[in-house]
Order: sequence, then C-alpha cells, then structure tokens
Amino acid sequence: MSSDTPDRADEPAGAAAPTGETAGHRAESADRVKSADRTESADRAESAPESALETALHQLEHAAAILDLDENVVERLRHPARVQRVSVPLRRDDGTVEVLAGYRAQHDGARGPYKGGMRYHPEVTEEECVGLAMWMTWKCAVMDLPLGGAKGGIVVDPKELSHAEHERLTRRFAEELRDIVGPNADIPAPDMGTDAQTMAWFMDAYSVQEGEPSPGVVTGKPPEIGGSHGREEAPGRSVAIVAREALAYEGRPLDDATVAVQGFGSVGASAARLLDEWGATVVAVSDVNGAVYDPDGLDVRSIPSHGEEPEGVTRGVDDDRLLSNEALVRLDVDVLAPCAVGNVITGDNAEAVRADLIVEGANGPVTFAADAVLERRGIPVIPDILANAGGVTVSYFEWLQDIERRTWASERVFEELEEEMVAAWEAVREEYDRRDVSWRTAAYVVALRRVARAHELRGLWP
Ligand code: NAD
Repeated sequence: MSSDTPDRADEPAGAAAPTGETAGHRAESADRVKSADRTESADRAESAPESALETALHQLEHAAAILDLDENVVERLRHPARVQRVSVPLRRDDGTVEVLAGYRAQHDGARGPYKGGMRYHPEVTEEECVGLAMWMTWKCAVMDLPLGGAKGGIVVDPKELSHAEHERLTRRFAEELRDIVGPNADIPAPDMGTDAQTMAWFMDAYSVQEGEPSPGVVTGKPPEIGGSHGREEAPGRSVAIVAREALAYEGRPLDDATVAVQGFGSVGASAARLLDEWGATVVAVSDVNGAVYDPDGLDVRSIPSHGEEPEGVTRGVDDDRLLSNEALVRLDVDVLAPCAVGNVITGDNAEAVRADLIVEGANGPVTFAADAVLERRGIPVIPDILANAGGVTVSYFEWLQDIERRTWASERVFEELEEEMVAAWEAVREEYDRRDVSWRTAAYVVALRRVARAHELRGLWP
C-alpha cells in the first residue's frame, strides 16, 4: 500500500547548487586507507546474516568504540526504553474473533518523543521492532531531529484483511497503545502494510478517546486532515540531494553524471525524476519485473512509477532496451541508487558493481558482506539512515504543522528539507574527513555522539 497522496512542487531555488567539498579535498581523502572500518566490516562479512537488532547493536558498538564513549551511556543504549506487547482482538467479517499480537518498541527518548513506523506484516516480531526502533533513533539523530526511535506493528498479513477489518484492527490497536502513544510521547507513521488511511483511522480512534482532535499523534496522514505536502516525495528527494552532494564532494558536476535507479516506486521515481530535472542522465530504472535501459538517457517522466501504474516500467518496451535487475546493479554508471528492497547488493555481486558511488534509497540494500567488498574496492556507499531520511524529516515537519495548526506550502516543505539535508550531509562529511571511517560509520558516529550527549546532559535519575 502506498502512503500519502503524491504531490509535486518546484524544487527550491538553488537546490542543485552543490555544497560539498572540492575535488582536491576528495582526492586526498579517497587515497586514505580506511583501516579501522575495514576490519570491522570484514568481521561482520564473515558472520551469518543478522537480525535487525543484531545489526543495530553492531552499529552501536562500532560507533561507540570510535567515539570512546562512557560505557554507562552505551549500556543504556543497548536496551529499548520500553517494549509494549498487546493482544489485539479482531472481529472478522464472518463474525469470528481472532486475537493478533501487536508490539510497540520505544528505544531512546533522550532527544524527544519517540517516532517510527507501524507495520502490518506476518513476520513482525518483538525483536525486529526493537532493532528497527534503534535504527530510527540513529536516523532521527543524524538528521538532528528532536525525536527518538520507535517501531511497532501487528503480526498479520494485510492482504488477508478486508477494508473494514483493516479499520477495526487499527482502531483497536490505537486503543491498546493509547497510554504510550501521543503527540508528545510517541508518534507512529505508515510502514509496510499500512498507509495514509491507516493513520487517519488511528488518529481518529485516539482523538475520540482523548475528547479532542489530536492530529499530531501520527504522521503520514492525508493532507486534508493534517498531513504534510511533500511527504510522499520526501525520501526520494533526500536521495537526490545526497547524491548531488556526494558527487560534488567527488568534484563531479551533476550534469555529467549517469544514474541507475533500482525500484521505480515512491522513493526511486522521485529520486530519478529530480536528478533528471537537475541535469543528470538517468540511464536505467527498474521495477520488480526488470529494468529499462538507454545509455543516452531515459525520459523518466513518461515511465510510470509504482504508484501511477504498478509494474508498468517495462510494459511495451522493446527487448533491446530491457535489462534484468541484476544487470542494472552491474551497470557502469556514476551513481547507483538501490531504491527497491533490502539485500540486493551482497557478497555475491558486489565484485561486479561498476558504479562509482552507491546511494542507499531503500533500507538496507547493501549487506555487510557487500560493504566490505565495496570498501576494499573504494566504492563509497552513502547509507540509508542519511540518504532516505527525507521521509522522517518531513514527518517531523508534519508534526510541527499539526502543533501549529497551520499548513506549510510545498515550497516551504522542500526549502526546509533542503536545509536539513545539507546540514546533515555536512555533519557526516566532517566526520568522514576527520576519521578513518566509511560514510556509513561517519553517519553513525554523528548520530551516536548526539544521542550520547543528550544522555550526559540529562543524567540518570534517581
Ligand atoms: P514502493 O512500493 O512505492 O516501490 C517499490 C518499487 O520497487 C516498485 O517499483 C517495485 O516494483 C520495485 N521492486 C520490488 N521488489 C523488487 C526487486 N526485488 N527488485 C527490483 N525492484 C523491486 O516502495 P517505496 O515506498 O518506494 O520503498 C522502497 C524502499 O525504500 C523500501 O526499502 C522502503 O523501506 C524504503 N523507504 C521508504 C520510505 C517511504 O516513505 N516510502 C522511506 C524510507 C525508506
């Protein structure tokens, strides 16, 4: 299910102006041997696939060691502040009652209210919610948003829910979580299997019980009831902004760059269309069925995104312009943006990647094993917690608009997103330049330093 209604706006004035480092700077740092990081990645590469929680803990330990943090603070961050498990009774359309398991994990609230998605999926587990809540803590912190990380969900296959069942389930889940969510406590958002309508029902159920309208209890709502303009486009826009900054850092003009985008959905289509608008040549885009390729550049506006026409990317395209998704990953391009699903660049295909730069639009598209290979080969990977953080950033803007009871125009949303993304990019770039680490580790260092500082300042009571 998609989230909000897509809406478009002109990009902010000067959005394409690079603000990254000069080519000279980049040449110097590209030659450095990033030894400390390589050892860690290599260790991780040898291990079996990890759960979201194991990954999040690894990232915490690695960044904590680099920062030489107070062990007492790190110990607090290893544990979620709270995990709520609830039983959600659902009356099916046939009158029978089924009891489903639901969770809400809140990781760290030192910097502000908890924020994170709410998913309906058969494989939701408590442990996964905890791990993903930790990721949200780092993502909010790298963006310097005054929010902490949370994640939740219900163990259910959303395809097996009727519209009415989806509504009843959501309203009951809102009631079960009412004591721990709220505009100043924990603010859910759409995730896998949930969408803007789910958020509207959740908000309505919460508001009815509170006795007052509380639009700020969730984000990702339809704009008519307090959702933000530009929310749908935001993660793809941040991918495009970060790709632009990373290219500038390498001393490469955007209008000489070739780009391949895997996944032409909410994230991928927005990123591809913006990069095209800013002068890059998008040579390949794909959906689950395969890719369309043209070395001279595609007209990305005429290719339907997942939201516009599901699985329409390769429909009616001549065979000589078709590629597999696997071949797209191996294209010789300046920027490869995997924006579809996780685990697509792995230990098995990372040696075959010929892109000069990878920008993670999806969550977790590059595995640990692939990270180690790409690092050895000198191919930078700009991590998901920075690159697709436009989504949570505009969710934060939505929350501000709900508190202010005032709607921002798309132009303002995109201008403020541009500012936040460039500031976050600069903070990460500073760490990258200062330390012998990868872009991924630099982002985690920025995030953890901020969270740890909040803990130091607030202290532990009693
Ligand atoms: P979407 O459903 O709108 O689009 C997904 C696209 O990927 C579709 O074109 C689909 O056909 C394609 N696809 C699916 N499986 C594929 C495969 N195995 N190989 C190649 N293409 C495949 O999804 P989205 O909202 O754009 O999300 C994409 C990724 O970005 C996910 O990892 C998601 O978690 C992450 N993300 C999304 C948001 C958001 O707000 N939408 C925010 C941050 C991160």
